[in-house]
Amino acid sequence: MELLAKNAIQILEDRYLLKNDKGVLTETPDALFKRVAEYVSACEKKDTAKWNKAFYKVMSELKFLPNSPTLMNAGCDQAQLSACFVLPIEDSLESIFTTLKNAALIHQSGGGTGFNFSNLRPKGDLISSSKGESCGPVSFMKIYDAATEYVKQGGKRRGANMGILNVDHPDIEEFIMSKSDKKSIENFNLSVGISNSFMKAVEEDSDWQLMNPHTQKVARVISAKSLWELIVQQAWKTGDPGLVFLDAINNANTTPDLGTIQATNPCGEVPLFNNESCNLGSVNLSKIAIFNNGKYEINWDELSRIIHIGIRFLDNVITLNHYPLPEIKITTLQSRRIGLGLMGWAELLILLNIPYASKKALLLAEKLMKFFQKESYDASEKLALEHGTFPSWEISKFGISNRKMRNATCNSIAPTGTISVIANTSYSIEPLFALAYKRMGILGGKIQTEINDVFIQKMKDLDLWNKEMERVVIETGSLNGLKNIPKKIGAVFTTGLDIPWQYHLLHQKAFQKYTDNAVSKTINLPEKATVRDIADIYQTAYKYGLKGITVYRYGSRVGQVLQKCNVN
Ligand code: UDP
Repeated sequence: MELLAKNAIQILEDRYLLKNDKGVLTETPDALFKRVAEYVSACEKKDTAKWNKAFYKVMSELKFLPNSPTLMNAGCDQAQLSACFVLPIEDSLESIFTTLKNAALIHQSGGGTGFNFSNLRPKGDLISSSKGESCGPVSFMKIYDAATEYVKQGGKRRGANMGILNVDHPDIEEFIMSKSDKKSIENFNLSVGISNSFMKAVEEDSDWQLMNPHTQKVARVISAKSLWELIVQQAWKTGDPGLVFLDAINNANTTPDLGTIQATNPCGEVPLFNNESCNLGSVNLSKIAIFNNGKYEINWDELSRIIHIGIRFLDNVITLNHYPLPEIKITTLQSRRIGLGLMGWAELLILLNIPYASKKALLLAEKLMKFFQKESYDASEKLALEHGTFPSWEISKFGISNRKMRNATCNSIAPTGTISVIANTSYSIEPLFALAYKRMGILGGKIQTEINDVFIQKMKDLDLWNKEMERVVIETGSLNGLKNIPKKIGAVFTTGLDIPWQYHLLHQKAFQKYTDNAVSKTINLPEKATVRDIADIYQTAYKYGLKGITVYRYGSRVGQVLQKCNVN
């Protein structure tokens, strides 16, 4: 078993390791990985022991970790193991409150939920039964938010939601403004559902029709550009709303005959049908670099091996999962969507001496993700030959091209907000946020100062590590201000806020190119970023064909989890 970092042990003890009724820990981290491996290998008819061992080994070596609900719940009674759900909201009180109840149950089991509120009639519309007026989607979203506040996920963390309203809904302005006080709807990420026709209207500076979904009539006509400016202005101010590009999502849908996708999970990496779930897992890239002839290089064979094990693991989770509702079970088993992704990209680049903000990094991102997708598809194909294709395969794009597949999708790049802390590596495909930072407990609590381990190791290797460097890094979170750092080395350690947004976006584009689901990425910006920057980022994201986009300007949100060391 790999040695765990202090933070990893703390998080595991606080939220992942099993406890008895008195709250006393009853398992060790090693026992956790054994519990998960044993459960997830239980559906292997042949070679159960072999797969149990293989799953245990990749997890305990921190080379692959499944999403949090799998780590927390596998092996427990009626275990729900997925992180991602999308639920339907129809234009009736019955539907709104049934879905609210279902969302609460999903949160309780550790999952996050996404919803598209666009079917709801706008505020002020007539309710035929009561002759009263509807309070509209934003008010209902506030009720969902309040309920979320009081249902802790798996008893361990607060629930997460994605709220989407399409750009042609009459209440779209209210939706865009709904978080402007920086206090409301805190348990939701908000995204405007964008269509290609809206982007064209913005470009041409033409009129834009808002449609009442209940009457199918035009409610109002506004200027597309003004609406765009409102979105951008609010995103600059508060980080919300982000955008989801619904046409790009549906163009990439491998099962279009099953319907139209209208929403994603909370962080955006999995577009899903209503009542569908998806489980995720991530490969730790910082563990696939090997030291050879005085330098690090990627061990491609090892990467392939872990991907094949990871895909098998996630497919088993689909088989073994206890679904919170019968309709979710039916929809999920129909397509068996899984999302294998990665974490530790920034640390891999550091080991390879490649600056994040460089063409070399982008070329490697494409090469790596192309390999990642090919190996994932090969693994899913092998599983299809062993266990059969996913039930809707025949009408899927794979069926049409006659490629056998076990899963309608294989890859998602998740934020890895907690599992990367357990694996002690950098988040997802994000650059290092800072070389040192203060991390706040996810549910409040202790604040800890951390200096990145890979950075310290590299500096020691180069004989550059000393007290003065430690002081500056803790004070500023970066190497800025230190004179004797060779430029080439300094560039490798450029951190989040010093990286031009263009490179953030180019990384998202490079990884999205070979990711069948989506890439969750936050374009982190310094406080001085302008409204114009946000407009450029959102336009460029659309131009690149991305499935969604989220920005975060430093300090624009209350209660951010990571803080650079020089703040506070
Ligand atoms: N998620 C959630 N609540 C959280 C964090 C995450 O429901 O507090 C869900 C959400 O669907 C998100 C997905 O888990 O998109 C993956 O997030 P992440 O990779 O950060 O999860 P981890 O497995 O690291 O906890």
